[in-house]
Amino acid sequence: MGVPISQMWTVASYVLGKKIRREKRYPLVLMLEPLFRCNLACAGCGKIQYPAEILRKNLSPEDCFRAVDECGAPIVSIPGGEPLLHPQIDEIVAGLVERKKYIYLCTNALLLKKHLSKFQPTKYLSFSVHLDGLREEHDEAVCREGVYDVAIDAIKTAVEAGFRVTTNTTLFNTADPDRVRQMFDTLMDLGVEGMMVSPGYPYEKAPDQEHFLHRRQTMRLFRKALGNPKKHWHFNQSPLFVEFLKGNVELECTPWGNPTYNVFGWQRPCYLLQEGYCKTFQELLDTTDWENYGRASGNPKCEDCMVHCGFEPTAVSETFGSLHSLLKVARLTLFGTKDESQLPELESVDPPVPHFDRREISVTLDDLQSSAELYNMPNRERDTVTAMSRARPT
Ligand code: SF4
Ligand code: SF4
Repeated sequence: MGVPISQMWTVASYVLGKKIRREKRYPLVLMLEPLFRCNLACAGCGKIQYPAEILRKNLSPEDCFRAVDECGAPIVSIPGGEPLLHPQIDEIVAGLVERKKYIYLCTNALLLKKHLSKFQPTKYLSFSVHLDGLREEHDEAVCREGVYDVAIDAIKTAVEAGFRVTTNTTLFNTADPDRVRQMFDTLMDLGVEGMMVSPGYPYEKAPDQEHFLHRRQTMRLFRKALGNPKKHWHFNQSPLFVEFLKGNVELECTPWGNPTYNVFGWQRPCYLLQEGYCKTFQELLDTTDWENYGRASGNPKCEDCMVHCGFEPTAVSETFGSLHSLLKVARLTLFGTKDESQLPELESVDPPVPHFDRREISVTLDDLQSSAELYNMPNRERDTVTAMSRARPT
């Protein structure tokens, strides 16, 4: 099962609607953290280092629904902590499905098999399983042996039961690109719908501070891991974001695009930084000094950040912002740099690299058809979804 066309259509029409109404800042994915407790203690995690009284807290289903309704984002990602430890997670998911939200329930999968019967397969729900590599790498990243095998077993079970299953992978400077590529093969063979990869953010609170990637390291790693992608690989992230990770397209952060709500309230300014909390989403939008964030701001906390929660909304907004942009992205996809060896040397060329907005393009219907086929999209949707293909600069 691929990403439902209805999900792509919902996101595209939502973004276009916001553009038409000239709304400057709008959310795309709500990061809903219903708790911070976890049954693992990964070395690179910046979310679980709270005192016991905070770790014991749960957002109630009503809190969650209020935040979701207030925010209005079409997609809700539920990270944590481990959401399956929440005693009412099934109620929360059911309420979001009722609201027709597309949900990514992020889990380390230790409890997935046990709790699977609490959920019903639906196009609105996807389990996003945390996997940071093959057996050896993943067990090391999560600091416990055997977790990889449990996760793989849970993925198989969930796929067989008809659930949408995706994966999320965080890479550090220890990642071997060839092993990452092997992991992509393995996951696609298991029948996952799509994979999401992102570099780790250097959380100040994470126990392991040595293995976070700096910007150039990120680009080098992702060029090798994602370069010359195999046709059967499917990524659950926008093509433009993939090119950004490889250093082929320059994007700026959109911190309000993935707002975060948790037991403290609305987190300022993004999922990664904690610089205060607001009572309402509107207050977050109105009172945050957004110009202090993103790489252009010069904020050292943003310098090396290339994490999906900041840049994926930018990529999606650019892609679906207008028909003109859609065609531009399609043009980049079809006529961009095919040979990875032709890309500028990261050692000698400083970002920013070519920005797609500056290019004049023309795209024929045949080109769109080719792109749609490349990504196995139904013909009838090609005009809309072609731009979801990988974007490359010319
Ligand atoms: S599974 Fe996720 S939430 Fe739990 S410790 Fe690891 S990174 Fe943190
Ligand atoms: S660049 Fe990263 S850390 Fe900075 S605001 Fe954006 S998402 Fe947050």
